[in-house]
Amino acid sequence: MTALVLDGAAMARDVFAELKPRVALLAKRGVTPGLATVIVGENAASRVYVRNKMKACAEVGLHAELHELAADAAESTVLAKVAALNASASVHGIIVQLPLPRGLDAQRILQSISIDKDVDGFNWTNLGAIVDGHPRLAPCTPLGVMSMLERAGIAIEGRHAVVIGRSSIVGKPLALMLIARGATVTVCNSKTPDLGTFTRSADILVAAAGRARLVTGDMVKPGAVVIDVGINRLPDGKLAGDVDYEAVREKAGVISPVPGGVGRMTVAMLVANTVFAAERL
Ligand code: NAD
Repeated sequence: MTALVLDGAAMARDVFAELKPRVALLAKRGVTPGLATVIVGENAASRVYVRNKMKACAEVGLHAELHELAADAAESTVLAKVAALNASASVHGIIVQLPLPRGLDAQRILQSISIDKDVDGFNWTNLGAIVDGHPRLAPCTPLGVMSMLERAGIAIEGRHAVVIGRSSIVGKPLALMLIARGATVTVCNSKTPDLGTFTRSADILVAAAGRARLVTGDMVKPGAVVIDVGINRLPDGKLAGDVDYEAVREKAGVISPVPGGVGRMTVAMLVANTVFAAERL
């Protein structure tokens, strides 16, 4: 069997097309949704991510602004920048690009973003709302995975979903979203003994470990849905997911590639969250 390949770029284009009428409605009210990105110091990968996010905003007609702070900026300077953006009427969404330089308390900075402008969904209040099944602004990567499953018409209720990775921004919120949709969910982590025992029973397998080619063909049930969240830089400079794509594609029923999969939908969900934040004002 060769798996159906989910096209994250095409799905992201669909999301943008669906957002445009909502942006037009906001324009009639004199509102242009605005996303502000704070970047501290120089990080080549961060620059690429930020450029992609700003491009996506422009595509849908959002206002995007970049606030660059020096690598040696004091924490008080970063907090003051966030406070100013919290108060700005033209900004509906704020992201602080990670990683931050050493010496800055990332949690203190992230938690200072207004919960109504927290379009990355990292605020503890917003994360807590997912636990109770009433999401407000939720993290973009799990939202992107859920949207991909929905757009591909993949049934979730009653199925066994296995999530590899338990981070607060990917694995854990994704597990909660899958639970809310009626899946039976297993969450694995780096201490899980014999990962394959769990993955082989997955109808839906999501890999979010940050370990290149962790999921091999023999770890996948024939016909399973395999979603690859991982982004890993190989020694030759190429990008690879957490899934051994060539081998798993022959075994799975549905697979998402890297690049061109979840990453595209993550950016699309960031734009969607910003539009949502602007609508709620
Ligand atoms: P993280 O390092 O915070 O968490 C990784 C999780 O994976 C941990 O819970 C760890 O216990 C688990 N893990 C690590 N090795 C494992 C193993 N061998 N077996 C089982 N579990 C293992 O990472 P994160 O922020 O959750 O990101 C995970 C991956 O997803 C990274 O590659 C990251 O680059 C990628 N990512 C992609 C997007 C996107 O837009 N596509 C967004 C965010 C993160």
